[in-house]
Parts: sequence; C-alpha cells; structure tokens
Amino acid sequence: GNGCASPGPTLLFVKTSRAQEQGRRFYACSACRDRKDCSFFQWEDEKVSEARLAAREEYNRNHQPSFTHRQNVERLKNFIVLPLSQRKFCQDCQQLLLPSEWQEHSGHQFQCDISTAQLKTPSQLLYPLENKKTNAQYLFADRSCQFLLDLIIALGFRRVLSVGTPRLHEMIQSKASQDEDFGVRSLLLDIDFRYSQFYTEDEFCHYNMFNHYFFGGEAAHETCQQFLYQDTGERVIMVTDPPFGGLVEALASSFKKMMAMWKETEKEGDNKQEMPMFWIFPYFFESRILEFFPSFSMMDYQVDYDNHALYKHGKTGRRQSPVRIFTNITPRMIVLPVEEGYRFCTICQRYVSSGNQHCEICNSCTSKDGRRWKHCALCNKCVKPSWFHCDKCNCCALQDHSCERTDAGCFICGNAGHKRSTCPRLS
Ligand code: SAH
Ligand code: ZN
Ligand code: ZN
Ligand code: ZN
Ligand code: ZN
Repeated sequence: GNGCASPGPTLLFVKTSRAQEQGRRFYACSACRDRKDCSFFQWEDEKVSEARLAAREEYNRNHQPSFTHRQNVERLKNFIVLPLSQRKFCQDCQQLLLPSEWQEHSGHQFQCDISTAQLKTPSQLLYPLENKKTNAQYLFADRSCQFLLDLIIALGFRRVLSVGTPRLHEMIQSKASQDEDFGVRSLLLDIDFRYSQFYTEDEFCHYNMFNHYFFGGEAAHETCQQFLYQDTGERVIMVTDPPFGGLVEALASSFKKMMAMWKETEKEGDNKQEMPMFWIFPYFFESRILEFFPSFSMMDYQVDYDNHALYKHGKTGRRQSPVRIFTNITPRMIVLPVEEGYRFCTICQRYVSSGNQHCEICNSCTSKDGRRWKHCALCNKCVKPSWFHCDKCNCCALQDHSCERTDAGCFICGNAGHKRSTCPRLS
C-alpha cells in the first residue's frame, strides 16, 4: 500500500505557537512529517502507554514490505525466465507475481505480458505515489531527463548517485544495457521500496534522505561508499530531486553527510573540495539552500515533469515550471539549450533564460522565474514585473496586497505583514 513504509529513525521537531513562546519538542516520523499520513507522533516529554506501544508495533508489522530486497532480486531472476504470457504485475499490490502467487491475488487488477522493456522502466509501471506532502512522486519529462543526462556526460561524470531520481537512474540503466560503450553507471537511493523488485543491491538502496538512513544497514552503506569511491576518470556526481514538502534543513544535513562520505574516499594527495551535486528544487527555496550551501548557485533551467498538473506544458505552449537546478559546479560550465531560449550572459558568466535581462544597477541577471524583472530604486534591487513599491510597507509587493499587519507570520521569513507569496526574501 501507500503511506509510511517502516520509516527508520525519527526526527525531533519543535512545535511553536504565538501564544506559547517556547516550542514544545516532539518526535515525528522523518519520512512522513504530516500527521495525516503517518500516525507516529510523540511529545518529547510524553510517557507512552503500553497500548500505544502495542499499536505502534502492530502498525510497523503491517507496513513491513512482503519481501526483502534479497528475495526480490531472486524473484526477478525467476520472473525474467517466464514466457511473456506468464509475466503478471499486480497493480493493487504493486508487485511482480510468480505463477504460484496468482491465487493469493485473485480479484486484484493484473497487468499482463510484462515485457523486458517494461522491467527496465519501472517508473512507468509503478503508479506515482501521491501522498501530498512527503512522498509525492513527480517524474521528469523525457526532455528534462535527457537534458540532465547529456549535461552530466558533457561535464565528464561517469557515475551518478541518484537520490530520489528513479527516472534518471532508469534512463542510465537502460542505456547501459543497450550499449556496451555507454560508460555511465548509476546507484539509486530512494524511500520507495517498490524499486527493489527491479534492481540488484548494487543498483538500488532503500534510503531515507531526511535523516541519511540506509534501511539495508551496514551492507547498503558500504555499497554507497564503494560507489562514491572514484578512480581516475570515473568522476561521480550526486543528483537529487527531493519532495518539495521536505524540510530544507533536514535534507541539507543529510546531503552534508553524503558529501562527508564522499570525502572519506579521498586518496592521499588528492585535493578534492566538495562532491559535485545537482539539487533540483523550486526557485523560491534559493535563499534557504544557499544558507546551507554557500558554494551553490541556482541555474535558470526550468525542470519539467510528466505528471505534475501545474508544471508540465499546457496545450497552449509552455507553462512555467518553478523548479531549478542548484549546483556547486561553476555556473558557466552548465550549458543550457539555446534552442529552448537560453542565452549566455558574458557579464554573469552563466546561461540565463531569454527573458532574464541583465540589470546594470544590480550588475546581474536578476530574474528568478524567467520573466523580465524591473529594478526598484527604493528597494535597491530587482523585483517581479507585477510588483509595485508600497510606501506603507516600505517594500515592493503586489498592487492589491493588504498592508495591514496580520497575526500569522510569513512562512518563509517569519515576519508579520505579508504572506509567503509576497515575502521580500523570495527575491
Ligand atoms: N523527478 C524524479 C522523481 C522526484 S519525486 C525522477 O523523475 O526521477 C521524489 C522522489 O523522492 C521519489 O522517487 C520518492 O520516492 C523519493 N522520496 C520521497 N521521500 C523520500 C525520502 N524521505 N528519502 C528518500 N527518497 C524519498
Ligand atoms: Zn547577466
Ligand atoms: Zn536591479
Ligand atoms: Zn520597492
Ligand atoms: Zn503595503
């Protein structure tokens, strides 16, 4: 089923309210921070009753995957040798079935004649998880996935640590299986255990990126460590596309641990700095990400998705995706496709959207969303085209914003007086 699949360790959070100045600390499942999705919630100072513990154990039992990764690898071997007519996939259980198991799944919806090609593109066989806040799966549009892979290859990388990017992983895996000369390898780390049915333990690790937890224990950790170890000419990059509801802080802390793991593989005399990384995330998290990773910069490239109603192309031309690539690679190395309207700004030394004008005063190409922004002399920075300077608020905002101070603070900066969408820190 859906929802929380044995989440591993929990994260400690602080709950605050205006009335009560000091936050009360609580534990929540780090994979499902929304209480609607997962019943695990406990105040730090709370005594847990026997009944509650029993209920929790029961919950964990029911959420255990039916097979281990090792078992799934064996099952796949047996599945591949079946004639096409006997290759069935249970859509209700999201599971490949061996003939002896058909009986148990009677009454379920099957997908039949599962081809070898389908086994190599599991992201199209599995339904995308839709859990709104934490586990929503937004799959790359083919164009964006191909762009990322071409870029990775052009930059000279030969290994990709795919953290929450199953579609990029599967594109690399299928190319590698079709073409012997295709020298790129990928390791997928993802919380979605359904993928263990399609990949060996060297190709997939069940992993929680909110707390850097390997469900497969020491062996899985070792697999990842091995993968990060780079021989000369086998440079590695980490690519991650976390759920947008995720806490930037928790993600950043995990990614730093991953970078540390990469550094540990350092050979003597090597002068490695930071593991190269693409962190794919919406542009309005720019300041948050840069807080944790000052060496990163945001690229103008708009990452498109297949199954995201808001972000994919509309019938009437292109809708704007707010999703960008954050990277610690020198911006001018990230070549964006001219045929999609990107151009090189020689002053900024990076590729920008065609609509992104270089502002003489800011001395940079300031647009974040691809539209042409305008400079406000009073704010001393460029702002969205739809904004006007408000003397009462002493900053730029939408024309019809309400200047009255509201009690609820802004989600991004915590200040009162505006909502997230008009937060001055966004620009
Ligand atoms: N655009 C990507 C998919 C991004 S959707 C692609 O097409 O390949 C987010 C991905 O992160 C999903 O695969 C989801 O299963 C995974 N994910 C969600 N929460 C996670 C967690 N806590 N730890 C690891 N992976 C997680
Ligand atoms: Zn510029
Ligand atoms: Zn400006
Ligand atoms: Zn202004
Ligand atoms: Zn105002």
